[in-house]
Amino acid sequence: MRVLFVSSEIYPLAKTGGLADVSAALPAALVEKGVEVRLLMPGYPEALAATANRSSEATFTDIAGIGAARLVAAHMPDTGLPVWLVDCPAMFGRQGGLYQDATGADWPDNAQRFALLNHVAARIAGGALALKWRPDIVHANDWHSGLLPLLLEAGGGSRPATLFTIHNMAYQGCFHSSSLDGLGLPDDVFTPDGIEFYGSVSFLKAGIRYSDHVTTVSPSYAREILTPEGGCGLDGLLRDRRSRLSGILNGADYRLWDPTCDAYLLRHFSPADLSGKRICKAELQRELGLPVAPEVPLVIYLSRIAEQKMADVVLDALPSILARGVQLAVLGKGQANLEHRFRNLAPLWPGQLAVRIGYDEQLAHRLQAGGDILLHPSRFEPCGLTQLYALRYGTLPIVRNVGGLSDSVVDFNDESLRTEMATGFVFDEPDALAMLRALDRALALYRKPMAWRKLQRQAMQSDFGWETSASRYLALYRRLTLAGPAGEGIARCQAGFADAAE
Ligand code: ADP
Repeated sequence: MRVLFVSSEIYPLAKTGGLADVSAALPAALVEKGVEVRLLMPGYPEALAATANRSSEATFTDIAGIGAARLVAAHMPDTGLPVWLVDCPAMFGRQGGLYQDATGADWPDNAQRFALLNHVAARIAGGALALKWRPDIVHANDWHSGLLPLLLEAGGGSRPATLFTIHNMAYQGCFHSSSLDGLGLPDDVFTPDGIEFYGSVSFLKAGIRYSDHVTTVSPSYAREILTPEGGCGLDGLLRDRRSRLSGILNGADYRLWDPTCDAYLLRHFSPADLSGKRICKAELQRELGLPVAPEVPLVIYLSRIAEQKMADVVLDALPSILARGVQLAVLGKGQANLEHRFRNLAPLWPGQLAVRIGYDEQLAHRLQAGGDILLHPSRFEPCGLTQLYALRYGTLPIVRNVGGLSDSVVDFNDESLRTEMATGFVFDEPDALAMLRALDRALALYRKPMAWRKLQRQAMQSDFGWETSASRYLALYRRLTLAGPAGEGIARCQAGFADAAE
C-alpha cells in the first residue's frame, strides 16, 4: 500500500496547530503497519532548512500557470520518513506565518500558493513525473489540499483513490471568484454543484465534493458537521455524501508526549510515581514568576487564542477564575484583539496570572507536566490533541461536551457510576457559568488529594496512542483501493462503510 500524504504543515518542519502533529504521527504509525508513505508539503524556508539529505527530484518551469517550482526530496529529521517539499520561493519563501503575514493578515495569494501545492501533488499522483513511484491512495488534509481530489478526477484516466480528511470545518480556504483564473482549474467547476460557495471559490468544498471518501477527526464531529450549526454552510453537501463520510479519532504521539521520557522536562514521572510532577510544577511556577506553592491549584490554558477555543469567554471570566484562588498560566497565539486583552490583564493579578503570548513548543510540554488542571473549553472541537496530552500528563482536563472532547474525556461525577472510568470534567453550555461550575467541581476534588490522584492515574492510563486509529485508516485505505478509483466499485462497498463513525 503506497500513500501520498499531503499536508500544509508537518511537525517538526512547520506547525501552527494539531494538523502538524497528526501529519507527523499518523504517517509514522502507518509505516509501522507496513504502509509505504511519502509526505508532501510546501517548502517553507524553515522546513527546507530542517530536512536532511535534500535533493532536487523534478523542476517545473511553469506549473499550471502559477509559476516555477522545484520538487525537493528529503527525509524527516526525526522519523526519517521520505518527504517532498514544493520549493517555490515566490510563494513559500517569505518571512511571517504559514498562512499570514507578521500583522496577522492572510497572505493575499493564498489561493495560488496552495493551488500550486495541489498541482504538484496531482503530477506526482497522476504519474506525470518520472519518479518510479505512484501512490495507491492520495490522502489530502484540510482546505490546503482540497483541490487535489478535483484535479485527479478532472485528469481522467487511471488515478489513485482519494481520501480527504477535514481537521477543521471552520477554515475553508474561500477566495474571491476573481482568483479562479490563476488556479489552473477546469472551466466547468465553478458551479454550486462544484466548488462555488456563495460566489466564492472554496477549496474545502472541492475536497469534500470530489474525494472518494471523507473523514473527519472524531466520530462526534463527523455527526456534528451534518447539522447546520456544525457544518459551516457545507452540511447539505456533507449530508449528500453521508455514506462516504466517517470519523476516526486522532491519536496522541506518545513518542513526543509522554511524561516518562519527555525530552523537555527536568523530571520525569509516571502513574506509579507522581513525585516528578510535583517538581515540574515547582519549576514551572518559578519559570513563570508565580509563587512556588504546591497546594495552590495551577490551571493552564494552552491554546490558539481564538473564539473557537472560547478565549473571549475565558477573558471575561478571568476575575471569577482568579477569585477562586488558583494560579492561571496562559500560553497562546492567535487573534490579535484577544491576545491584547490577555496581555493587558496580566499585570492586574501579579503572582496569580502568568501570560505568555507566542508559540513555544517546549513551554507547552512544561505546562502539561507542571499544571494541575487544563482549562480547554471550545465552542466546537473537531478532535483536540491538547486534552489528549493533558490526560497523559495527569493534568486533568476541563472540557466542553463537544466533538472530539466528548469522545476523549469522561466526566467525573460523584453521582455517576462511571467514576472508575472518569478522567476529567465535562460541561455542556458554551458559557462562563457552565465552565466555572466545572472548575468548581475540579477544585472540590483537588482538595481531596487521594481522590485527585486516583483520577490522575486513570487519566494517565487511558490510551489514545495512534495504533488503533492508524489501523482504522489502513482498513479504510484497503476498502478504497479494493473499490478502485472509478467510483463504481466505491458504490459497491458502501454497505461496508459505517455511518458517520468509523
Ligand atoms: P488546534 O489544532 O485546534 O489548535 P489541538 O488541540 O488539536 O488544537 O492542537 C494544538 C497543538 O498546538 C498542540 O500540540 C498544542 O500543544 C499546540 N499549541 C497550541 N498553542 C500553542 C502555543 N502557543 N505554543 C506551543 N504550542 C501550542
